[in-house]
Amino acid sequence: MGSIVLFGPPGAGKGTQAHRIMEHTGLPQVSTGDMLRAAVKAGTPVGLEAKGYMDRGELVPDAVILALIEDRIQEADAKNGVMFDGFPRTIPQAEALQTLTTITHVLAIEVPDERIVERICGRSTCGQCGAVYHDTFNPVPADGCACGNFQEKRRADDNENTVLNRLGAYHEQTAPLAAWYDERGLFHRVDGDRAIDEITHDLLGVLN
Ligand code: AMP
Repeated sequence: MGSIVLFGPPGAGKGTQAHRIMEHTGLPQVSTGDMLRAAVKAGTPVGLEAKGYMDRGELVPDAVILALIEDRIQEADAKNGVMFDGFPRTIPQAEALQTLTTITHVLAIEVPDERIVERICGRSTCGQCGAVYHDTFNPVPADGCACGNFQEKRRADDNENTVLNRLGAYHEQTAPLAAWYDERGLFHRVDGDRAIDEITHDLLGVLN
């Protein structure tokens, strides 16, 4: 067994697909964004350091991220591998990751830039179960979230100003990882500008 990386720009649907892939593979989702938001909320030293970068839509320094990941992958549920969502985001992060776990697949969910803003603005998640929704593209069902206890959460950085910075950081610092993983034979591209089920189908196809 090994770990999977879900790769793609902000708003590509990595979190949505992570939930679905988790049901099929049993690999736990490890989202550095979720871990950082929890740290900010709890007011830990990591959270205090990360908050300014996150509010501006910039990447948090590699050392902060790598310390979080090193701890996380030592937990019991990670021993057969994990599914990284939003990590790695820089070449130094990817290099460090190689020393920590074996990556078997990097699944890139491709969405054109001009679709990103509308996908990010309008997004919500259920605080109870983590399900991801969108006001237009994937609304909360009329009878509520499947978990039965919908608690709407919206991210502070899901606004038009921050999105453009996040997209800029993606192109400058994260997109070069595509070639880096391609050279290592691990990179698989899936068209993310389609129905959620079709994307899940193709991602699972790559894994099988
Ligand atoms: P996300 O939830 O993945 O969109 O991440 C939200 C924010 O957390 C990003 O805009 C960054 O400020 C920060 N962040 C999350 N993951 C990373 C990472 N791997 N490297 C650097 N910053 C990150």
